[in-house]
Order: sequence, then structure tokens, then C-alpha cells
Amino acid sequence: MPPSSPFPASDPDLASGPPDDPSVGPLGDPALDTPSPSDGDADVGACDPMERRTVVVVEDDDSIAELLDLYLARAGYQVARAATGAAGLALVAERQPVIAVVDIGLPDGIDGLEVCRRLRADGNVPVLMLSARGEETDRIVGLEVGADDYMTKPFSPRELVARIKAILRRTGDPGGSGSSDEAPVELGGVSIDLVRREVRVAGSPVDLAPRELDLLVALVENRGRVLSRRQLLDLGWGYDWYGDERTVDVHVAQLRRKLGKDFPLVTLRRTGYRLG
Ligand code: CA
Repeated sequence: MPPSSPFPASDPDLASGPPDDPSVGPLGDPALDTPSPSDGDADVGACDPMERRTVVVVEDDDSIAELLDLYLARAGYQVARAATGAAGLALVAERQPVIAVVDIGLPDGIDGLEVCRRLRADGNVPVLMLSARGEETDRIVGLEVGADDYMTKPFSPRELVARIKAILRRTGDPGGSGSSDEAPVELGGVSIDLVRREVRVAGSPVDLAPRELDLLVALVENRGRVLSRRQLLDLGWGYDWYGDERTVDVHVAQLRRKLGKDFPLVTLRRTGYRLG
């Protein structure tokens, strides 16, 4: 995994990307380079149903590819990345993914639409197209060349994962319902059911505000990792949510109050937070 930031601080593709904000500083955060489920990439036999299902991401913007990697890995997918159309086609042939996520704007001659056309001609791997342009014509051309779905940047990675699962359900992938995250997570007397979005402390249901729940889910999905406030904003509330970093502190304080003193949510001075 390249040590790039998953945050699109200066992505020319993003029509409405975030401003060049000095607060994006801590994002060279080594925490994101520490083990993620996509590490330990021991050459996966694509035909083994017990192996995690692979998603090929064809995207030349490392920050976006990294963000997708993080989210898809947490959703139980193995991610294989390529930055050009040619490399993407080769990767699909090699890895036999359950779906390909393909950016339209790619360097070196073969753009995302052409990638999609060739994938359609050669097989039946579902394709979700990404575009920096919100133009209706792109959407129509994307769907005409056979894409299964289409999203415009900036997008919420959570929504992208949801749409991938929907495509896989439609196209009959047996694991498409995300069966890997079903058991509730137990931490410090708190039980968190990520599928039902239910939280219990010592067996009793706790009422969390939607933003508190989103933040908690992001922490649980990344437990053991140090996350900066900026990362928590992005992971908790989406790629397109650009709030004040102190919002995170406020919601963390609420979570601590509601989840009790045994809940292992650690503050790291000047760095961020870590669960577990
Ligand atoms: Ca691009």
C-alpha cells in the first residue's frame, strides 16, 4: 500500500473537493499504514470461495483509491488497485474480482469508459463507474457502455460500499449481503451491532444520535488504529462532509458519557483517538 493520504486535499479531479486546508497536516498519519485487512496480501486464489472477495479499483488518484481501499477492506473485501486502464484490465483478468470500480478519467490512453467497454466485451464482471464530472452525458455514456452503476465525485464511501453490495445482490454474488460483519462487537461492556446499528451497555439499549452512531461505527471498524480528527470526520460522516474537527471531540465526549468509563476509547494527545 503506498503511504499516500486517503484524503483528497489537492485532487484536480474533484470539482468541489476540500480547500487546501493546513489542518489536513496530520494526514501523513502513519496509523493508516499500519495493518489493514488488505495487507498480508498472500496471493489469493481467486477461485477459493473461502477467500475474501476481491474488488478491483481502477483510479489514478491515490488519495481516493486509498480511501476506497480502507472502506472496502472494512466491509470484508480484498482490494486490488490499478492506476491506469491497461493495468486495470490486466488486474481484472488476473484477480477475477466480484466487481470493478473504475474512474472515467484515467491517464495513458485507455479511459474508464473504454475499460468498461472491454470488460463488457470479455466477460461479466460488474462495473461501477466513478466520474469527476457531474454531467448527465457522462452518466448516460457510462451506463450505455454497460456500467452497472455510476457515482459522481465527491461521493460518500459509505454510499459506494452500499451500492456495491446492491449490485452484487442483483448480480447474484452469494456474499453480497456483507455477511462478514454480522456478529455484534463487544468492547468494555458495550455491545455494538454494526448491521442493525444497535448499541447496548451492560445489556441495555443506549440511545445514540445518528452522528454519534456514525462516529462509533467508524471507530469500531478501525479499532486498534490511531485516527486523527480529520480522518474521523471523513470516515464517520463521509468524504463529502467537511466539518470542524472539534465536532469530533464533542461527539467523542458524548459517546464516552453514554457508553461508560469502561469503553476503551483512548485520546492521544495532538494525534487523535484510538478504540481498543
Ligand atoms: Ca482520475
